[in-house]
Amino acid sequence: MTSVDLVRNLINHDMNYTTHDYPKEYPLRTTVAEIDLAVLRANFRAIRARAGNVEAMPVVKADAYGHGIVPCAEALMQEGATMLGVAFAAEAEPLRTDMRIPYETPIAVVTPPFPHGAAEYCRLNLEFCAASLETMRVFSAEAARTGRTLNAHLTIDTGMHRDGIQPHEALEFMRSVEHLPNLTIHGICTHFATSDEADKSYFQFQLQRFRDTIQTLRDAGFDFRYIHAANSGAIADARNEATFTLIRPGIALYGYNPSHEFSSPLDLKPVMALKTSIISLRRLAAGEPVSYGRRYTTLRETTIATIPIGYADGLRRNLTEKLRVMIGGQYFPVVGTICMDQCMVDIGDAPFSVGEMVQLLGSQKSAFAEIEEIHIDADDWAQQLRTIPYEILTGITARVPRIYFTS
Ligand SMILES: *Cc1c(COP(=O)(O)O)cnc(C)c1O
Repeated sequence: MTSVDLVRNLINHDMNYTTHDYPKEYPLRTTVAEIDLAVLRANFRAIRARAGNVEAMPVVKADAYGHGIVPCAEALMQEGATMLGVAFAAEAEPLRTDMRIPYETPIAVVTPPFPHGAAEYCRLNLEFCAASLETMRVFSAEAARTGRTLNAHLTIDTGMHRDGIQPHEALEFMRSVEHLPNLTIHGICTHFATSDEADKSYFQFQLQRFRDTIQTLRDAGFDFRYIHAANSGAIADARNEATFTLIRPGIALYGYNPSHEFSSPLDLKPVMALKTSIISLRRLAAGEPVSYGRRYTTLRETTIATIPIGYADGLRRNLTEKLRVMIGGQYFPVVGTICMDQCMVDIGDAPFSVGEMVQLLGSQKSAFAEIEEIHIDADDWAQQLRTIPYEILTGITARVPRIYFTS
C-alpha cells in the first residue's frame, strides 16, 4: 500500500482522535494537513452568494493552493462549479486521469500557452487563453488534425501587464482568428492588479477598459458565452461590480480574504488544519541552548518538546522566534532555530507526554474559561513573514500528507 492509498483510506474517517498517538490511523508520518471539504464547499457557497450566484470557475492551480487538486476539484464540481481553472496544462493531468473527475469537466488554463503545447491541450481537452495569433493558428491546426474543437478565452490586458492582448488590438485579433477552424472563442477575460486594495481607482480604470473592449467587440458582432474578471479580491469588494457572468475565485475558497483592506470581507473559514504530535520530551536546566546555532537558551528549568515538522514541510525557517503552536487548548512558543524536519516547543511545566497532538494551523477549544477557542491561521504566519496567506498555503510541501474529511 502506498502512502497515497493510506491517505485515501482515511477519507471520511472519524476525526475525533484521542489526544495521544496523534494520528494513530496514519503510521508513516504524524504530521498531517487535514482538509475539511465541507468547509471548502461552504466557502464556495458564500463566495457565489456574494457574487449574485453567477457561474464560477474555482481556481485549483498550485494543487488547489496546497490543499490537493483532485478531492478539492471533485467537491467544487459537486457544489455546482461550471469549470475548473488551473495555471498550467500540466496541472490538469491529474484531473484528467483520476476517475473522480468526469472527462467532460471543462478545465481552463488561465496562463497563455506556448504553440508547442497544442498536442497536449488537445489530448487533455483544455480551454486556453487566446492571446497570440501564432498560438491560435498552431492550436487550430492541431485541433483540426485530431478532430477536436478547443474552447478559448480572449485574454485582455487591461492594466495588469502580465498576460493578454492590448484592448486596442482586440477587434483586429478577433477578426484574424474568427475563421480559424476547430477553435471557439467562447470567453473573454481580464485580470485585476489591485482588487485587494482599499483604493479602488486603478481597479475601476481596468474595469472600464474591460467594459469598453467588450462593447467594441459587441458592436462588431462578437459576443461571448463567458465574461470573467473577478478574482477573490474583486468578489469581496463591497460594490461587487466585476462579477459579469463567471467568477474566478481562488484564495477565498480555501478560507482567506486576499487582504485586510475590505469593508465587508467574505465570511470564510480556513479549510486546512496542520497538526503533528510530540515525538520526544526533555527536561532541561536553566541556561541550556536549544537547536542549531544556540539561538535560544532556556531561562529556567523547563520541558522542551520536539515535534516532527520543519522547513522542508513549509514551516518556514524565518518563523524562528515568531511562531507558536497549540497544545491542549493553550499556546506555546516554538523555540530555537526551526530545522529541516523538526523544531522544538517550550512547554514549561505542562504535563504533556509523547504522542500529544500539537496543532500549528487551525482552531481548538481553549483550556481557559474566559476564551472559548484559540486559533492560528496562515494569515498569522504571513504577517510574521511579511507575505500573504497564498504563499503560506502553497508552501506546505508535498511531504505533508493531506487527509480529507467532511465535517
Ligand atoms: C490565481 C488566479 C485567480 C485567483 O486569484 P485569487 O486572488 O486567489 O482569488 C484568478 N484568475 C487568474 C487569472 C489567476 O491567475
